[in-house]
Amino acid sequence: MDELLNRLADCESRSELLEPAQSVREDLMRTVQDYADHFIASLKDCPAYISGHPDLSRLRIDGRPTPLNQLLKDYDAEVNTHGIKPASGGHIGYIPGGGIYAAALGDYLADVTNEYAGMYFGSPGAVAIENELIDWLKQVFHFPETSVGNLASGGSIANLIALTAARDKHGIKNERIRTSVVYLSEQVHHCIHKALRIIGLEDVQVRYLELDERSRIKTADLKQKIAEDRRAGLNPFLVIASAGTTDTGAVDPLREIGTIAAENKLWYHVDGAYGGFFILCNSKKQLFSGIEMADSLVIDPHKGLFLPYGLGAVLVKDKEAVFHSHHYTANYMQDAQVEGRLNPADLSPELTKHFRGLRLWLPLKLYGIEPFIACLDEKLLLTAYFRRELQRIGFEVGPEPDLSVSYFWYPAPGPDKNRFNEMLMQEVHRDGRVFLSSTRLNGKFVIRMAILAFRTKKITIDRAIAMLETCVEQTKAQFK
Ligand SMILES: *Cc1c(COP(=O)(O)O)cnc(C)c1O
Repeated sequence: MDELLNRLADCESRSELLEPAQSVREDLMRTVQDYADHFIASLKDCPAYISGHPDLSRLRIDGRPTPLNQLLKDYDAEVNTHGIKPASGGHIGYIPGGGIYAAALGDYLADVTNEYAGMYFGSPGAVAIENELIDWLKQVFHFPETSVGNLASGGSIANLIALTAARDKHGIKNERIRTSVVYLSEQVHHCIHKALRIIGLEDVQVRYLELDERSRIKTADLKQKIAEDRRAGLNPFLVIASAGTTDTGAVDPLREIGTIAAENKLWYHVDGAYGGFFILCNSKKQLFSGIEMADSLVIDPHKGLFLPYGLGAVLVKDKEAVFHSHHYTANYMQDAQVEGRLNPADLSPELTKHFRGLRLWLPLKLYGIEPFIACLDEKLLLTAYFRRELQRIGFEVGPEPDLSVSYFWYPAPGPDKNRFNEMLMQEVHRDGRVFLSSTRLNGKFVIRMAILAFRTKKITIDRAIAMLETCVEQTKAQFK
C-alpha cells in the first residue's frame, strides 16, 4: 500500500466540496438568484435607512459548514436590514451610485474565470480590457493618448496614486517637504488629506484658498498665494481642484486654475470622483472645460456610472511620474514583462487584484453609453425638481447647484435654527423612507441631497417630500 497515494486520495475526497458538480452549482445559483430577485423587487418600497446593529452570533465564523439557505437568511437579517441601503433609489445622502445589475454579472464572470489582471503577460485579454477602459476615459476627458491610468478600488486609492505621482515628479522629499506648498480648498474630500499623510507629506505647507459664495476656489487668491510663497522662498508644487465637491457639488473654475498651474509649473490635480461623469451631459459640458489641462484626474465609476462599490479610476499624463513609485520588477517576475504593454501593477500599489475592469466593460458594451447619459441627465432634473418641491413646502434651499448635490434647511421659528434642523435630521433618519445626510457650511447646519443613485426616480423625490412634511410636523411638536 502506498501511504502517500492514500493520503492524497483522502485529501481529494475531503476537499471535493470546493468544486461542486454542475447540478449542485445550479441549485446554489438558483438560491442566490431567487434572493437577488426578491431583493431587487423589495427595493421599490423598502426604507432607505434603518438604524440598528447586527446580531454577531449569527455572523460568527465557527469553522463548520452551514446550508446556503440559512446563510442567506442570516445575511438578510443581519446585513441587509440595518444601515443605509445603497442599492435603493432612496439613498440620497453622502454620494450614492446604486449598483447596476450588469456590473454584478461582470464581477461574477471575473470571479469564475479569475483572470489575472495585474500583468499583461498573465492575461493579455483582461489587461487589454482594463487598458481599453482607460483609453475610453482619456477620450471622455480629452486626455492625450500618451496618458496612463489605473482602475483602482475607489476614489481614495485613485487620489493616492495621483498625488504620489505629483510628489515624485517634483521630488518632494527630505528637507524639501517643509518648504513645499500645496494649494487646495477646504472643500476637498478628506481622502486628499489622508493621501498626503500616507505618502509622507504630512509636513508640507497647505494653503487653503478663499472660496466664493458657491464654495468654488477664487483664482485671484490662488495667484496671490503662489506669488507670496515664491517671494518667501518656498516651493509651490501642487494645486488641487474639485470637479464636484462632495459637500455641495461645486465645480472649481477648472480652466482658470489650469492656466495658473501651467504658468507656475505646478502639478494640477483634479478630483472628479463625484462629479466627473457629468461631463457626458450636454447641459454640463461647459463646466468641465479645462479639465483636460490637469496632470492627473480621478473619477469614480462606482458613483457617476452607477457601479457597485469597488471602482475608482485615475488618469495621469506623465507615465514616468507614476512609474517612479509603482513600477518595480523582481526576479520572480522576470517572465512577466511584455515590451510595449502597460501592466496595471506598474501603475498602482496593487499587484494581484480583482479583475474589476470587467464590471465596467460589460455594462458599457451591453448597453452602450446612452442609458448612462440619460440617467445622469435625469439626476440633474430630479435635483431641480426636489429643490422646487422643497421650496413649495416651506424649506429654504442653497444656491443653484452646479451638479446634483445641493442643500436645504427649514427656517425654524426662534433663534436656534441649527437645533431645529438637527432635530429634523434625526427625525428623517428615524423615518428612513428616504436617506439624507447633513453637513455644516460656515457654522450652519444644513441637510444635503446627493442625487446620483440610478434607481432614484421622480417617485422617490415625491416620497422624500412627503416624508419631510411629516418630519417637519413632528419636529415642530417637540421643538420648544
Ligand atoms: C467619494 C469621493 C472621494 C473618495 O472616493 P471613494 O471611492 O469613496 O474612495 C474622493 N473625492 C470625492 C470628490 C468624492 O466624492
